[in-house]
Amino acid sequence: MDLVDPFGRTIRDLRISVTDRCNFRCTYCMPEEGMKWLPRTDVLTFEEMERLARIFVERFEVDGLRLTGGEPTVRAHLPVLVRKLAQLRVPATSASPHAGRKPDLSITTNGSSFRLLAHELRDAGLDRVNISLDTLQREKFQRMTRRDELERVLDGIEAAKEAGFSPVKINAVIERGTNDDEIVDLARFGREHDVEVRFIEFMPLDASGHWINDSVVTQDEIVEKIHAVHPIEQMPARGTAPADRWRYLDGAGTIGIIPTISHPFCGDCDRVRLTADGNFRTCLFATDEFGLLPMMRRGGSDDDLAAEIQRAVGTKWAGHQINQVNFIRPSRSMSQIGG
Ligand code: SF4
Repeated sequence: MDLVDPFGRTIRDLRISVTDRCNFRCTYCMPEEGMKWLPRTDVLTFEEMERLARIFVERFEVDGLRLTGGEPTVRAHLPVLVRKLAQLRVPATSASPHAGRKPDLSITTNGSSFRLLAHELRDAGLDRVNISLDTLQREKFQRMTRRDELERVLDGIEAAKEAGFSPVKINAVIERGTNDDEIVDLARFGREHDVEVRFIEFMPLDASGHWINDSVVTQDEIVEKIHAVHPIEQMPARGTAPADRWRYLDGAGTIGIIPTISHPFCGDCDRVRLTADGNFRTCLFATDEFGLLPMMRRGGSDDDLAAEIQRAVGTKWAGHQINQVNFIRPSRSMSQIGG
């Protein structure tokens, strides 16, 4: 049975935040001192994540599970969770391309620990990886993440390729006046390292609340900068994927851009989210949530949980309202929701 929202969009993609903790302190995400972490007892156990994921996959034919955080690799024994999720099966009767098979398993990570985990996660059943990299300059990396970890992230990217992940995607959040001078350098990095760089428009999810619209470098600006040096052409429409894509005319690969602010793509949204403390969110910018963890721990059945999930999806809005008068920032920041 499909999960369909009031606008006729079918939910296919569940983002699971496996922890709110992170070993970085990115300026567009959290303050230097970090956040007030969730008590461990308030965080979903692997068994609870597996149970909820099973309901989404086996009852509602969700065929994509993405692990996020905070930083997912700081959660101990992460391959154990991946192995559990890889046992799930999308119903054979589903219209999904994954019908009868395991769901597509992916992760978004800052890459700093990926050298240690790449092969084990691959063997456990992980299919795809996105690694965050916002600058190629060591000093600026330290300023943006408040960590001197550029080398380990670059090595994490190599480890991902060596482990057989393909394509390895790079997520680069572009902030005007901070790293927009490196758009072409990052594009070139992708060309030279055979990875797809996805440029992400800066979103109002920073814990410090400094986001302003002027700090957003738009999709059109990014395309113009790259095209001037490495000519590109737009690829066919994206479907439900968040990124628009371009290919280099000289055949040196592709790039993606996630234009949440300048070209919202909510009309095709198939995504929902589960926070590390078991709250269900129908949108990244949602201002309400549905407590699945307390329902589970109160003894709720799978039928109860499934009914609550359906009730929640029945309230999903048309899309975010950023830059509209009625826009309200979510009470959670990015690290407390998961990408
Ligand atoms: S902003 Fe919300 S509705 Fe729009 S694409 Fe993102 S998650 Fe979907």
